[in-house]
Amino acid sequence: MKKNLIALIGVIAMITGMAVFLNQRQNVEAETTTSERLRVVSTNSIIDDMVKNVGGKYVDHYSIVQRGTDPHEYEPRPTDIAATAEADVVFYNGLNLETGGNGWFKKLVQSSKKRFNEDVFAVSRGVQVKYLTTNVNEPDPHAWLDLANGIKYVENINQTLQKKDPQHAAQYQQNTDRYVAKLTKLHTRAQTKFKQIPKAQRLLVTSEGAFKYFSAAYHVPATYIWELNTEAQGTPEQMRTVIKKIDQSQVKHLFVESSVSPKSMHKLAKETGVPVANTIFTDSLAAKGRVGDTYYTMMKWNLDKIYAGLK
Ligand SMILES: [Zn+2]
Repeated sequence: MKKNLIALIGVIAMITGMAVFLNQRQNVEAETTTSERLRVVSTNSIIDDMVKNVGGKYVDHYSIVQRGTDPHEYEPRPTDIAATAEADVVFYNGLNLETGGNGWFKKLVQSSKKRFNEDVFAVSRGVQVKYLTTNVNEPDPHAWLDLANGIKYVENINQTLQKKDPQHAAQYQQNTDRYVAKLTKLHTRAQTKFKQIPKAQRLLVTSEGAFKYFSAAYHVPATYIWELNTEAQGTPEQMRTVIKKIDQSQVKHLFVESSVSPKSMHKLAKETGVPVANTIFTDSLAAKGRVGDTYYTMMKWNLDKIYAGLK
């Protein structure tokens, strides 16, 4: 009995020793590769996915706002602050997204001692800005919902990564060319898609007015309950306005976004008798492993589901 016990302890000690060794070796490996890779932090999952596509194996990437969470208003966690402080490059959307509302991103940049245009960059640089209807001085942030703008984001990310890590410039360029070709194909196909639907049926109804850029690019007029996720949501007046627009159209389905509460949209469906077709993506990618968990598949899902719901 005692002999068995000693043998057992011996085996446990051996296993523990092996585990520690393996663990140490992994740490050493992680350290060397991590120190060579560019550390890139993005404010949301959509930008993070673009960084992953451009940066490939040469970057470590981190998204501050998690999938399924609204990036307009956010309270950074200690891990977000640590990641931002350690980052070589920080990407944000700009155009009143993380920089509007409670201004959480400006505070985060300040507290992590980063500098705008030196290590913090807006991926929307060069985009032709559309402004809010309810506040004409404020930009509408949702430029990425037009794939042509998404491609601009990708090109801006590519330029910055090349500048910060010239050693891998050729690889970044190669990744970008391949990725942009794929996005361009989807964009070109989508541009003629919606013209096949009768005009009276062509109205995209969502909770947030996130589809200005999308509307212009793909010829689908859009309306909404509230214009931006930072404001009061689903007030009686907002409901009345959108109900009137729905009644004046022959729209067949409504849509709800994955990163907002669906309550108001379900109320709207009940009051108008027009059913909700699908959940679509605006400010966040789907959870990993689900359809829509990349920028490309999110846009493809939106285009397919909106088309199917309106026709
Ligand atoms: Zn939004």
